[in-house]
Amino acid sequence: MNWKENSRIARFWHKNAEENKIECDLCPRHCKLKHEQMGFCLVRGAVGQSLHTFNYGRAVQATLECMETEAIYHYMPGTKALSMGNIGCSMSCSYCQNWQTSQIKHLNPDNVKNYSPEQVVEIALLNNIEVISWTYNDPVVWHEFVVDTSKLAHKNGIKTLYKSALYIEEEPLNELLDVIDIFSISLKCMNPLIYKKYNKGELEPVLRGIKQIGKSGKHLEISQLIVTGLNDDGTDAIKTARWMLENLSDTVPLHLVAYHPAFRYSQPRTSVESLLNLRKLVFSEGIKHCYIGNVYSENVSNTLCKKCNYLLVERFGLTVNATGLNKNGLCNKCGERSVIINPLASKNKQSISHATHVPVQQFEFIWSEEINSLHVVLEENYNTDIFIMTERFPDGNIEQIPIHKGIERVIFSKNSINEKKILISSNNGAKLRIMPLSDRAHFPVLND
Ligand code: SF4
Repeated sequence: MNWKENSRIARFWHKNAEENKIECDLCPRHCKLKHEQMGFCLVRGAVGQSLHTFNYGRAVQATLECMETEAIYHYMPGTKALSMGNIGCSMSCSYCQNWQTSQIKHLNPDNVKNYSPEQVVEIALLNNIEVISWTYNDPVVWHEFVVDTSKLAHKNGIKTLYKSALYIEEEPLNELLDVIDIFSISLKCMNPLIYKKYNKGELEPVLRGIKQIGKSGKHLEISQLIVTGLNDDGTDAIKTARWMLENLSDTVPLHLVAYHPAFRYSQPRTSVESLLNLRKLVFSEGIKHCYIGNVYSENVSNTLCKKCNYLLVERFGLTVNATGLNKNGLCNKCGERSVIINPLASKNKQSISHATHVPVQQFEFIWSEEINSLHVVLEENYNTDIFIMTERFPDGNIEQIPIHKGIERVIFSKNSINEKKILISSNNGAKLRIMPLSDRAHFPVLND
């Protein structure tokens, strides 16, 4: 990236007179920079006597996903979300699944697009999307764009979701609390030494930030990637549960999420057995809602009524069925108020009885033990409204997803334990490409 192009003055920095440097105050790293020097994240740097941001509006392709891809289970289940990911990161995790966009020195510029706040909001409005999610690599270093666009989103009645490892200082986080409705925070572990060695960060500022969100009353869910050989022996799960009980509440959900080998870390994928064992420990500590993520099994992520144990929300992978709740969020069996906020999800799919078009291309994708979801990439700009049609086997369900201008990718996942394959096609000549996902927060890129 040519650092001199397309930059603008950043927020949250000061002149460090003692060292004659520009100091960035956005994240706890506090990079002190001389003229033309970039910070650790490689997307903010000193230009003369100011700090500039170099990634304003620079993003990966706008993607249609859902709340569950963001590890949010208690807020508008099944609602579609416009996922927006940027470039750069204030941390560097050894097992980063999006390292080709988070670690700038590995970035292929072909994967980067430019958006304005107005364009992002327009895409959401055109596609009837109720939530914009700041996600994939971490949104912290996209702060100015996230705040500007989130303000505009609110003016247009769109909610905002922040999925982050929360390596951010108190003041910018306060600014986010004004414009973000839903926080999905990735707490890597409870071991400061692992944070330092494998995430290139510090644990304490992350915990401080989570407490700040907890006090604000904004919707908060915590996830923890369970990385084989790092935090899978139970110690961290117990410490995390105890810390949450002490500092948040027993009703904040904790997601234990399967890792897959990526970037510089090659230990095997987290086993389901290990995740289930950790979940038992978390429950025994007193956490009320603990979910298993990135696992395509039944009965690992359901929400039950706390009074009568009725199945309120059934989940399989990214598929949600919230039929146990009424529109006011009450249990359909006993009438008890549930923990689910606004359970009437927007519908992303329309079930149809037979194919309504002759496809230009048709892709068949066979699910495997490793791959249970994929991105469908719209290869070329399409000038008209289109839909993507899917047919599931062996059950034969056919659905179509309406797509309007601006959406460039759509996530699809295995819908049931018996599903073997999916057929995907589009209408109006829209050309598609299939990119398998290793897990729900993965954004596969060109040359992946
Ligand atoms: S946001 Fe970037 S430049 Fe600022 S302190 Fe953090 S790593 Fe350094």
